[in-house]
Amino acid sequence: MSEGVTSPAPDPYLAGLRLAGRRVVVVGGGAVAQRRVPGLLAAGAVVTVVAPRITPTLEPHVTAGTITWHERPYADSDLDGSWYVLALTDDAAVNARVVADAEARRVFCVRADDGTRGTAVTPATGRQGAVSVAVLGGGDPRRAVAVRDGVVDAMREGRLDTLPRRPPRAQDASTPLPGVAVVGGGPGDADLITVRGRRLLAHADVVVVDRLAPQSLLAELAPHVEVVDAAKLPRGRFMAQEAINACLVEHALAGRFVVRLKGGDPYVFGRGSEEVEACVVAGVPVTVVPGVTSAISVPGLAGIPLTHRGVAHEAVVVSGHLAPDDPGSLVDWPGLARLRGTLVLLMAVDRLPQIAEVLLAHGRDPQTPAAVVQDGSLPTERVVTGTLAGIAGAAAAAGVRPPAIVVVGGVVALRDRLLPPPVPAPAPGP
Ligand code: SAH
Repeated sequence: MSEGVTSPAPDPYLAGLRLAGRRVVVVGGGAVAQRRVPGLLAAGAVVTVVAPRITPTLEPHVTAGTITWHERPYADSDLDGSWYVLALTDDAAVNARVVADAEARRVFCVRADDGTRGTAVTPATGRQGAVSVAVLGGGDPRRAVAVRDGVVDAMREGRLDTLPRRPPRAQDASTPLPGVAVVGGGPGDADLITVRGRRLLAHADVVVVDRLAPQSLLAELAPHVEVVDAAKLPRGRFMAQEAINACLVEHALAGRFVVRLKGGDPYVFGRGSEEVEACVVAGVPVTVVPGVTSAISVPGLAGIPLTHRGVAHEAVVVSGHLAPDDPGSLVDWPGLARLRGTLVLLMAVDRLPQIAEVLLAHGRDPQTPAAVVQDGSLPTERVVTGTLAGIAGAAAAAGVRPPAIVVVGGVVALRDRLLPPPVPAPAPGP
């Protein structure tokens, strides 16, 4: 090799550090430290931060005793007993000193202001189930983040298969077992399912779907996936729900991975608990994946928060599927009428006149703001607003049909403040 030719520095050797119970020293308490400390704590490290000041986000860790803070400038004795060091100040001279002191002690040290001068580098990391990903971008952190995001997204969406060939450990809740996953699909918009729900859906052999589950998700399923419409299951001697339970169990016992895709959250008026119980009884492995319930999200998307400081300190979610005077009703309507907070009624379109009447009869103010939101989160969404006294008539006049959510309470009036003003229609052309 001729003189003057320098070879590039070799690539770092990638390793995973087991930091549980080990002393890690973070020098600096600013924005970079704020980003690194949670990962160190998640790995079980015993973290000491040395810095004259720390960001407010780190303070609760100090108060709770999850990190130790030395409120002063760095001193080389800070590195005593450490396994790993991060030099994260915005002062290059201090960071250089920390790296040198760590080097003298043969402790690996990251340097935030100039990664090439540290003896360790922090990769962009991600995790999906049991799989961890660490990416170094060849000196370009943005490239590392972009690659990391691409890999994690691919795993989440099922484009990159992370399933082991052997059956996974049962305690890993995020890896699908053969069996049943009862998945909450959210209020209807395909984007409002959880990440876990979507990933499990991508692995399904069979999807048993409700009318209110986000139908647009079905378009993404691979051609071999069997889609069963729960409403159309042949019942024979079964009740509808028994037929669904039997269908889940049967497919799972045949070795298929079944996703039971439901609207909203499976455990909010969704009979998800009955389905889970049926699987448990049959000895079928079953997991529940919570969903974004329509009870909260549909009003929210329509500009109605369920609580608001000074307006409502309580919100009650009630089923209106039975008339208030139905002997089978478990709802204390007179009690609800005395409530000052927010009332969220599901399945209440047909009984709305009787429900409003019983609330008024037991003392709720007729002028209480009320709203009905039909098809929340979907392109067909409609909102009818009024007062408790007038809402049943207004909903009927507007032809509101299920699925719809009724909200009663002062929070309904916040809509005007929370929704952007309507865009004025363009002036008609010449
Ligand atoms: N488990 C579901 C609720 C099932 S009960 C959840 O957590 O959301 C069915 C009722 O939910 C409907 O009658 C209606 O009151 C409400 N609902 C579900 N999706 C809705 C939507 N997109 N818009 C309005 N109401 C909805």
